[in-house]
Amino acid sequence: MVENENRLTMLKYDSYYFQCPHCQAWLEGRNLKAELVNEAILYSDGKVLYDNYITTRQKMLLCPSCGHAFWIEDPKEPFITTEKPDAEVYSWNTWRFYGIRFSDNKGKLALINHYLTFLKKSHYEPKNEIYLRRFLWWAYNDLHRNHQHVRLKYLLNGFMSFGVWHSNRRMILEGEKLFLKNLKGFNNNLKRLLVLLEKHPEEQIDLEVPEIYRELRQFDKAKELLDQLGSRTHFTNEMLRHSKWKDSRVFMVSG
Ligand SMILES: [Zn+2]
Repeated sequence: MVENENRLTMLKYDSYYFQCPHCQAWLEGRNLKAELVNEAILYSDGKVLYDNYITTRQKMLLCPSCGHAFWIEDPKEPFITTEKPDAEVYSWNTWRFYGIRFSDNKGKLALINHYLTFLKKSHYEPKNEIYLRRFLWWAYNDLHRNHQHVRLKYLLNGFMSFGVWHSNRRMILEGEKLFLKNLKGFNNNLKRLLVLLEKHPEEQIDLEVPEIYRELRQFDKAKELLDQLGSRTHFTNEMLRHSKWKDSRVFMVSG
């Protein structure tokens, strides 16, 4: 089964290889094939998912062999090669998201704790702190992402069987409770991220600043920023709609 899954994944991804700068172990990474990027799902917080895999490259990782933490800032040769090395290679699953599995909320909380620990442990350049705080934001939102799936509509539409819908629903409702329990950490992270992004506008992605205001429940500020944009898109219209409803939860924009 795992092998089948691996083969399916291989068809959609291109492999690349790189070495841990500390112990020189080889690691395999994967990139979604370019032609599939348009089929991915976009969420209001900027996270893009394809087949449940995040499409943004992981820039900070822990070596699965020696535990050394390192950054891949500039994913180019010679640091990265597409040629499979003639050595033992640690697979993507051993280091992707620090080896965490996301089949339940415990994995999601573990990821949040990883980012919080990284942020506590050392001081980062603004670019790297923005990266870690953006991923921490997405990790908090993962607790209640796809909240619309709890609606009976999703069962009645025939997207899922009753068993899948029911256990998925239980996980999302539990995730929503955990999200609210961690709201202080969520808000603190967004406030700090906002300060960094406003100081470093070159690091901003698309609509993330108005989205942060919306998720911080500062709906008037979110609307003000969206109104300043010249042209309207499906994305901006949806954000305005959610701001008007005073709904601060992450939502699916397209997919
Ligand atoms: Zn290592």
